[in-house]
Amino acid sequence: MLRVTPEAVVEVRLPLGLREEAVRPALEKHAPWIRQRLEAAEAGLAARAARPLSLPFLGREVPVRPALDGRAAHRDGAFFLPEGSLSELLPAILALYKAEGEPYLRQRAAKLAARFGTRAGRVRVTRAEGRWGSCSGKGDLCFSWRLLAASPAAVDSVVIHELTHLAHFDHSAAFRALERARVPDLDACREELRRVDEDLRARGLRAR
Ligand SMILES: [Zn+2]
Repeated sequence: MLRVTPEAVVEVRLPLGLREEAVRPALEKHAPWIRQRLEAAEAGLAARAARPLSLPFLGREVPVRPALDGRAAHRDGAFFLPEGSLSELLPAILALYKAEGEPYLRQRAAKLAARFGTRAGRVRVTRAEGRWGSCSGKGDLCFSWRLLAASPAAVDSVVIHELTHLAHFDHSAAFRALERARVPDLDACREELRRVDEDLRARGLRAR
């Protein structure tokens, strides 16, 4: 197994008894991928050492200004953050995204659910890094804080994906067909989410 960690370390796990020489051809074959991942990890590390100049929120680049009272806030079209590196500020940034994002997502989920004649349960913003959203059997919806970096259209596509699970609790062909009918620009939204994820990585914006 081969991976590049956020700390810019290449990790290779070998089955017991397998010698290093045996995996060298595989490493050489994946060299461009490893190099690309290392560069991205190093850019993330460098970004984490400084306070960001701006943060992506609902598809807009929101400027970051110094919080003179030392308290993180989002007002007047700007994020206010105290002194510190991105790593130090990350918990405050995640808290801001959650505080701003939860009411927004709750409102979008209620509106879209009404359009589809269904009802959303509780809506929460989590620190999930692996996926954009999830839906429980009771219809409670969770969304990753990272989703709030995307445009309103792409955010809606994920909310609709989760709401569609209230009709089909799987990723069957029937689910896919209904999702596509509800999100005509699904491919463009997916492509945007892929770019948002890459962008967040490059900025060093990862919860863990
Ligand atoms: Zn799903």
